[in-house]
Amino acid sequence: MLLRLQQYDISVTYVPGRDMLLADTLSRAYLPESTRGESETDIETVNMVGYLPISAERLSAIRAATTDDTKLQSVANRILSGWPKRKQDLPSDIRHYHTFQDELSFPDDIVFRGDRAVIPDALRVDITHRIHSSHLGVEGCLRRARECVYWLGMNEEIKTFISKCDICRSVDPKQQRETLHPHDMASRPWAKVGTDLFSFHNKDYLITVDYYSNIWEVDYLPDTKSNTVIKKLKAHFARQGIPYIVILDNGPQYASLEFQHFSRKWDFEHRTSSPGYPQSNGKAESAVKTAKRLMLKAAAARQDPYLAMLDHRNTQSQGLVTSPAETSEQEDQDPASHEGHSAEARGNTQRTGTGKQQTETGKVLQQKTWTLWREGTM
Ligand SMILES: [Zn+2]
Repeated sequence: MLLRLQQYDISVTYVPGRDMLLADTLSRAYLPESTRGESETDIETVNMVGYLPISAERLSAIRAATTDDTKLQSVANRILSGWPKRKQDLPSDIRHYHTFQDELSFPDDIVFRGDRAVIPDALRVDITHRIHSSHLGVEGCLRRARECVYWLGMNEEIKTFISKCDICRSVDPKQQRETLHPHDMASRPWAKVGTDLFSFHNKDYLITVDYYSNIWEVDYLPDTKSNTVIKKLKAHFARQGIPYIVILDNGPQYASLEFQHFSRKWDFEHRTSSPGYPQSNGKAESAVKTAKRLMLKAAAARQDPYLAMLDHRNTQSQGLVTSPAETSEQEDQDPASHEGHSAEARGNTQRTGTGKQQTETGKVLQQKTWTLWREGTM
């Protein structure tokens, strides 16, 4: 009941029965039988399962293991038939469920706590492996887990598992954390972008990071000439929209005449990180660190680095409520905000037209990433 009411914002007011004409009339004219349609029951139960970012195959494994799990079967029985008043009247191994009994449900033969599937003992190790399949850090894995699964002691188990992961231990930096001096938040996706060059295994790459969503793109650079970098940036701007501000470091690629020409023609301001404040391109630098780490781990685990990047995008960034992909998607659901921005701030009608098209393409791209995650990478 509480769960079902969560989607509404209700304020309760007392009205005496004699004043409630309409409600009173309806309560006297109720249907002789109050059966819920099949579709209603479906919506309530299927949605829980359908919203989980877990593959159908994995779900049926969870369902089968739940059926075999005596603890969860006894929890399911309480969900269906009611809980005792006192916690002590429950068997000790399911006693802790008493505290959050209101959050529990049993749709489709899987126990749910809120919108998270309760994982039977037999599958915990397997699920932990899947959560950590791209060797995301502890925080990333925990956020990912908390979105969709639950078991008692889950956080600790995941932390211990990651602390023992050989691939992570061989790659993760031991150095202390740098304090970032962030630029003010951008107002929409791809309004403000940071970019930087880095090398990995003797190859050069360009990183382009969006300040709003934290999404970054990595491009392989056959050489580090100014024109090569410009070409890669153009491709991103053509898909995502032209930023107002591009933050750069002091590389020769950006100081060149070609780059000056590019920024004038495409009408964006470029700021270089000044020698006094080298950390002002911190966003790009920290994206480089993350990208390198993902690429190292993917190489060590012989995995596709692009899948690791997809996982990273779909996992919430530290300190943000939503994942990079979600942030971009939410913004995309409000087309007015894009049009408003391009029309006012750009003051250029021709631009508005292309800007809108670019957003449409951007939106499709973001949704693709989202769908991949939705269909279950676990
Ligand atoms: Zn690992």
